[in-house]
Amino acid sequence: MEQKKRVLIVEDEKNIVDIIRFNLNREGYETLEAYDGETGLALARAEKPDLILLDVMLPKLIGFDVCKALRGEGDNVPVIILTAREEEEDKVLGLELGADDYITKPFSMRELIARVRANIRRTAMAAPSAPERGMSAGGALTIDTAANQVYKNGAPVELTLREYELLTFLASHPDKIFSRVDLMEQVWNYGYVGDDARTVDVTVRRLREKIEDDPSEPAYILTRRGVGYYYSAR
Ligand code: CA
Repeated sequence: MEQKKRVLIVEDEKNIVDIIRFNLNREGYETLEAYDGETGLALARAEKPDLILLDVMLPKLIGFDVCKALRGEGDNVPVIILTAREEEEDKVLGLELGADDYITKPFSMRELIARVRANIRRTAMAAPSAPERGMSAGGALTIDTAANQVYKNGAPVELTLREYELLTFLASHPDKIFSRVDLMEQVWNYGYVGDDARTVDVTVRRLREKIEDDPSEPAYILTRRGVGYYYSAR
């Protein structure tokens, strides 16, 4: 029997926590709850959940700071930011601080469950030509797909789940251009996109900052203006 995945809910509105917990439990997830940012951070460190649902406006420590602290410690747990619909800036800021995804309030439980499932799943990268273990990704990059670890010049690069999956997906299809919609479907596992394609841009930017010598002159993940992104074969 596979061990149940554990989701940490960090949210100060008890009624929201209750309904999320109820629905996640029903879907077979275990849940942990925190009603303020400090407790959320402490639980994340102590319990090592499989995913964190993180509200932005929280007592004691806001969601962004929780996310930033975890990433600063090299913790790459998938994080989904819960944000109010009007706070467009929050979405981008959350992603820039290392969140994997966001969901806007009010959200349906169906959408939430879909996002949790999509983000918790360390996909086997259903790519037809998934890179072999220790595959050289060209230049100074190596992707160890067995350990889900990327190295640059032999040194480990700390990537979030989405950054890793985006890189692996693109590197598995060198020189093939993918639109943002393609990437949302293939990497984020979303069957719909809407305005969320911006998520792809932010994730590409963060990935470049981590793997490129000069993120403004990328050598690995290139942009085909007006079309999409591709991994440069070399
Ligand atoms: Ca709140």
